[in-house]
Amino acid sequence: MKPPSTIMRSAEELCDRALVPRERLDALAAVAARYAVAITPAMADLIDAGDPQDPIARQFVPDARELEQYPQERADPIGDDAFSPVEGIVHRYPDRVLLKIVNACAVYCRFCFRREMVGPGRGGLSPAALAAALDYIRGCPQIWEVILSGGDPLVLSARRIKDIVSRLAAIAHVKVMRVHTRVPVVAPERITAALVRALRAEAKATFVVLHVNHPRELTGKARAACARFVDAGMPMLAQSVLLRGVNDDAETLGALMRTLVECRIKPYYLHHADLAPGTAHLRTTIAEGQELMRAIRGRYSGLCQPTYVLDIPGGHGKSPIGPNYLSQDGAVVEDFHGRRHPYPPRR
Ligand code: SF4
Repeated sequence: MKPPSTIMRSAEELCDRALVPRERLDALAAVAARYAVAITPAMADLIDAGDPQDPIARQFVPDARELEQYPQERADPIGDDAFSPVEGIVHRYPDRVLLKIVNACAVYCRFCFRREMVGPGRGGLSPAALAAALDYIRGCPQIWEVILSGGDPLVLSARRIKDIVSRLAAIAHVKVMRVHTRVPVVAPERITAALVRALRAEAKATFVVLHVNHPRELTGKARAACARFVDAGMPMLAQSVLLRGVNDDAETLGALMRTLVECRIKPYYLHHADLAPGTAHLRTTIAEGQELMRAIRGRYSGLCQPTYVLDIPGGHGKSPIGPNYLSQDGAVVEDFHGRRHPYPPRR
């Protein structure tokens, strides 16, 4: 049996750790040959191997259904490639860009929208590609915000992150940096004082956006890791993916949002799961997502309400797809109990 301090990267290791029964080895090895696998000790410790529906296992343990692909699914579901003027940059909206600095992650989520692009050993931007990406940002004065993404940027060393942040901070029109990461929950030990310092830049705002999907992911260590950012003056937001069998009930979703707020993290987006290949078993319908949003509105504080969004396939950006409470003619508005009220037509 492997020591619990190692990252599991193969179906064999999952069987060794008794996270999956050995009779599933061949099927899962076939999935692992197609899509990257990594489960950190922090996440492995949360998995209840005796529960076939465990919501943490569903996010990280490969499933034979990942090899089933449907015509509506796409290798690049949110259309990054169509909006990539130079390697590492996605420029979809006028005032902000994604800077994808690394194509590796601490864990590999089974529903990942970039699953065809990320994996161990994929590395990051070469020095020349990074220089070209920074040149692009420098040459576009309308870019106000840079989103550090990947992969997961926080798998890089503090030294490497500091270098990138300070080069971005030297661009006068870049006022805001945003880091998208899953590391504070899946590998909280990586959030060291040096890494937190590396993300700070004089006279620039740095936001940290945490990807988290189930309240159990917010362990004591994860909370402490997040507190390091907030205490250092970096506001935190959260984005979650609506996933069948993980968080698609109002109690779990509400508990996740409350736990985040208690950690001083504002729920930002609830993403409708993208049409990534082999992920149909984890997707809900949009109607189910809207019903859940209705269920948490009113029952949970306004601080606990994320915006339910869909990344339109093909790269057309995000649109809010939450339920509508106002009739089309604006004459009737619905309250959180579902009761309808007239609203006067004149101002
Ligand atoms: S951390 Fe993000 S990029 Fe990495 S596998 Fe998970 S969803 Fe994909």
